[in-house]
Amino acid sequence: MKTKLLGRTPEELKQIALEAGLPAFAGKQMAQWLYQKRVKSIDEMTNLSKQGREALAQRYEVGITDPVDVQTSKDGTKKYLFPVRCPVGAGHDGKGHEEDSFVEAVMIPDEDRKTLCVSSQAGCKMGCKFCMTGRQGFHGNLSAADIMGQFFAIEEAGELTNAVFMGMGEPLDNWDEVKRAIDILTADWGLAWSPKRITLSTIGVLPKLKLFLEESKCHLAVSLHNPFPEERAELMPVQKAWSLTEIVRLIKQYDFTGQRRVSFEYTVFEGWNDTPRHADELIKLLRHLECRVNLIRFHRIPDFPYGPASVEKMEAFRNRLNEGGLTATIRASRGEDIFAACGLLAGKHSEQ
Ligand code: SF4
Repeated sequence: MKTKLLGRTPEELKQIALEAGLPAFAGKQMAQWLYQKRVKSIDEMTNLSKQGREALAQRYEVGITDPVDVQTSKDGTKKYLFPVRCPVGAGHDGKGHEEDSFVEAVMIPDEDRKTLCVSSQAGCKMGCKFCMTGRQGFHGNLSAADIMGQFFAIEEAGELTNAVFMGMGEPLDNWDEVKRAIDILTADWGLAWSPKRITLSTIGVLPKLKLFLEESKCHLAVSLHNPFPEERAELMPVQKAWSLTEIVRLIKQYDFTGQRRVSFEYTVFEGWNDTPRHADELIKLLRHLECRVNLIRFHRIPDFPYGPASVEKMEAFRNRLNEGGLTATIRASRGEDIFAACGLLAGKHSEQ
């Protein structure tokens, strides 16, 4: 199998160029072809010598994989499905191996924006009980090439304005590759996006969250869902490893009063987290933090005891948060007709 060029820095590409008998400056040229012109084959890199391109193509490929399925919603939201092959840890024979599976990326159009919701892992280790991806188990970390491939393989590749790391997987559980993708998105030699156009969503992997806050300037979204530790642990096992109190304490050490923003995602489940008691605890937890709470409507999934809260309940919950001084909004659901839930499409394909 050939090695992917996508996901590499100009410095790394320079080494590859030299090995292929190309001059050192070809590294920069290759980065331009990959990230600014979004070519799909080495042969399209026409300012490299033909001989050099042939030498490169013996061992390397660009690394963009076309989607195998696309679903389009009535509101224009598009869900793309990509096949991936990821290395996973040692199996019963003690050797590492690779697994084939699928990941989803969702393009969400909105007035003057086109946002891509990207996946960072195939499946997920975190096991949140309300999540279809969590139920599939873990099938490996995506490489930066797999992550960037989601940006470049879709029809809207040249029109994307924003990115959210909110697809399949926990991005901070694959921080090295996610960081590499963020660097490519924001570097001058890459897509030169402002970090303010990127949001990373996490359930709170504390040590890596610290790195994210130190090493990037992107927005942060934390999946909170319940302010009471024992109740949160019931649906989110991560709470036992890193508590919400520690997460919020860490976040409060950083400045979110300027351009960088932090938000908290709160999926509202009927009878589990939608009472005034929950709203009041949330207000207490997030006091003195410049932030926003996004209330999300739950999409029912099979074999799960809780259903979505009614519109009235969600509005009452939002009003109580607002009265308590928190900025809270009910997030509009997009692409409802194509989403039963994140991870469902990939799950179906894996079963097939
Ligand atoms: Fe993983 Fe996120 Fe699903 Fe939790 S909600 S299992 S972190 S993908």
